[in-house]
Amino acid sequence: MGKGIKDKRDVYYRKAKEEGWRARSAFKLLQIDSKFNIFENVSKVVDLCAAPGSWSQVLSRKLYLKEKVELEGLADNGDVLDLLMLMNTKQPPRQEKISNENVQIVAVDLQPMAPLPGVVQIQGDITKFSVAEKIMRHFEGTKADLVICDGAPDVTGLHCMDIYIQSQLLLGALHITCNVLKPTGNFVAKIFHNKDNDLLTNQLLMLFKNVEIVKPSSSRNSSIEAFVVCLNYCPPEGFDPTQITPFLDVRNKNFDSLTGINKVIIPFLVCGDVSTFDSDCSLQDSEEDNHKSSHSKAATSSILNYNDKGSEELQNDIEECANRIKNFKSFEHSDQNKL
Ligand code: SAM
Repeated sequence: MGKGIKDKRDVYYRKAKEEGWRARSAFKLLQIDSKFNIFENVSKVVDLCAAPGSWSQVLSRKLYLKEKVELEGLADNGDVLDLLMLMNTKQPPRQEKISNENVQIVAVDLQPMAPLPGVVQIQGDITKFSVAEKIMRHFEGTKADLVICDGAPDVTGLHCMDIYIQSQLLLGALHITCNVLKPTGNFVAKIFHNKDNDLLTNQLLMLFKNVEIVKPSSSRNSSIEAFVVCLNYCPPEGFDPTQITPFLDVRNKNFDSLTGINKVIIPFLVCGDVSTFDSDCSLQDSEEDNHKSSHSKAATSSILNYNDKGSEELQNDIEECANRIKNFKSFEHSDQNKL
């Protein structure tokens, strides 16, 4: 190897090869589990962004096959000292396998991946609600105990862009999670470490009782990846995740169908004196005293069109205009009082 070229085949890469994991990322999930016990009492799991499948392999071995890999004096926690011992030992690992048919594992990715025992694959985009629907159909009305997501975009090297795309994947994963996870269930997802992580944690705390950000020791120090571990799903009362569709074009959304706490609509208000200049008025317009704002012009033009309308319709139009102007004024005054 040339001088200055770092060998990327680190200790976890070698251990992954030895133990037959498809990628070294398997150790990240194993280490998260050794800290938070996320596999305890789990029979239904969703693995989002699963290809090539080392996390699904962990699920398959730990939950479906209930595989127990044992080596004399070796703890299965990915600790570096244990690792070195494993690499030096001549003794083959002892394995016991009992398949557990009650376990359901669903793996989703844009890419296909080689089959794994007990794992059902869905090829699809996690930012699409149709994927959440497919997962729900698979569980036949029951909910998942655990959702994990190791999703990452192809990094561009533009830090802000990469963080943004990663956050969109997290949003997609969270949306699916809210639709498929049972109350008290857990959610683990990859994030890119950045200055907004406190905000993210606080937002997630609205849905989960406990949220931690962790960096497993098998995750390279040079990588900005970290993992958010969200424990004990407890959505606010009345929260209906089917009504929240983060990637839908809001222009096509029927807001009238929203109910309860799901119907939080932020009003979009115009403020300022409607009888003064509006932002599209040119200097020349203002000098010619043609300075009314477009709202005021709209109100005036509907009054001037009275010849085309019946008297009752006209009366309604005038009342509506008067109300609109009153609302603008009162908004303006109350807002000024606050300042
Ligand atoms: N956990 C996997 C393992 O242990 O083998 C590794 C996951 S790899 C780091 C990231 C995966 O995210 C890629 O396979 C990629 O296809 C997937 N991905 C990225 N964007 C996606 C999307 N919108 N929907 C589904 N999968 C996506």
